[in-house]
Amino acid sequence: MSSVKMVEAPDGYSGAGFFATSLDQVIGMARSHSLWPLPFATSCCGIEFMATMGAHYDISRFGSERPSFSPRQADLLMVMGTIAKKMAPVVKQVYLQMAEPRWVMAVGACASSGGIFDTYSVLQGIDRIIPVDVYVPGCPPRPEQILEGLMQVQELTRNESLRRRNSEEYQHLLESYKIQ
Ligand code: SF4
Repeated sequence: MSSVKMVEAPDGYSGAGFFATSLDQVIGMARSHSLWPLPFATSCCGIEFMATMGAHYDISRFGSERPSFSPRQADLLMVMGTIAKKMAPVVKQVYLQMAEPRWVMAVGACASSGGIFDTYSVLQGIDRIIPVDVYVPGCPPRPEQILEGLMQVQELTRNESLRRRNSEEYQHLLESYKIQ
C-alpha cells in the first residue's frame, strides 16, 4: 500500500464525475507545492539550509528539493547570511533576474536586520534593497524554522490572487524600491 499522501483539494464543488473550483485556487495549490528556491547563502545560516535540504529534514516533502542557481528558473529567493553592502547590488541583480511571480525569504538575523553586525560595511537587512515576504528569526535559525518560513511562503502563494502582481499596491511596493 502506498504511503504517498495527496494534497487537499481547494474549496469548490464536486458532483458525479466533476470537480469545479476557481483558477486562482488551482494555480495557488500547484505553485505552493512546487516552489523552487534560489539559495543565496553567504555564511553560517547557509549551513542550516544545507541541513534543511538533507534527508533528516527533507525539504522535498514540500516540493522544494530542486534548488535553482539560475534566477530565471527560481520562484523563491532565500537570502541566508550576512550581506555586505558591496554584495547588496548582487542580491538585487539576482532578484531582478527572477521572473514573476517571485517571493523572498530573509533567513536569519543577518539577512533580516544585519544581526549582530551593526557596522558600516554590513547591510542592515535585505529589505533595504528588495521587498521581503517572510522573515525567519534566529542566529542561526534551526532547519525547523526554515521549514516554517517555507510553509508561510506556501500559505502566501496558495492564497494570493493571480492578479496581485498587477495590483496598484504591488506596483507601489516595487516603485518604492525603484524596481520597474
Ligand atoms: S544570523 Fe547568525 S548564524 Fe546566520 S549568518 Fe548571521 S551570524 Fe551567522
